[in-house]
Amino acid sequence: MTQEELLQKNRIILSKYIPEKAIDKVGDYIFEHDFKLIIKGDRKSKWGDFKSHHNNQSYPAITVNKSLNKYAFLITFIHEIAHCKTYKEYGNKAEAHGIEWKKIFQCLMQCFLNTEVFPLDILYVLRNHMQNPAASVNADIKLYKVLSNYDENKNNAALLEYIKDGEHFQYEEQIYKKVTTRRKRIECIHLSTGKIYLFSPVAEVNLME
Ligand SMILES: [Zn+2]
Repeated sequence: MTQEELLQKNRIILSKYIPEKAIDKVGDYIFEHDFKLIIKGDRKSKWGDFKSHHNNQSYPAITVNKSLNKYAFLITFIHEIAHCKTYKEYGNKAEAHGIEWKKIFQCLMQCFLNTEVFPLDILYVLRNHMQNPAASVNADIKLYKVLSNYDENKNNAALLEYIKDGEHFQYEEQIYKKVTTRRKRIECIHLSTGKIYLFSPVAEVNLME
């Protein structure tokens, strides 16, 4: 496959998952950083990841969940490309979400931080997030929330008793993990503080995508 054919193939794949105005640049990034992109089904535990050696092959691989909306997909994908670039430049000497990764992530995201790529509400929160990017979007409630407004399947409200133990949910703008049911109450962990709270089984919560 020639370079042009490869770029064209990547553009077609990317057009399904990211904002149109980001396609060319992301296509360039894929070519430049030379990794395998694997689109995954929905994983609750993570939105994407980077592995320096995929299935014992010599090339790196990035996975991203296909269930993400196009803005969350783009941010996640660039986050992982930043891991790939950090690995190529520093090997294992740099921390996973350390200063080297943050600088590279900021640099790779720069060309997307405009209203051609992101709606204004996301852009406003994202610019703040990028000042000192966290290890995951889930750790930034404001960004998580504004991104979830663009999920097509917004009907993710559920009663807490129907959620499985171990799953994450949102309640009054905070993220919790369901731990276990004790008689008439459900024990949950408030993720940002680690504190345990007891909920009613019929509390209406929002499932995390
Ligand atoms: Zn990461």
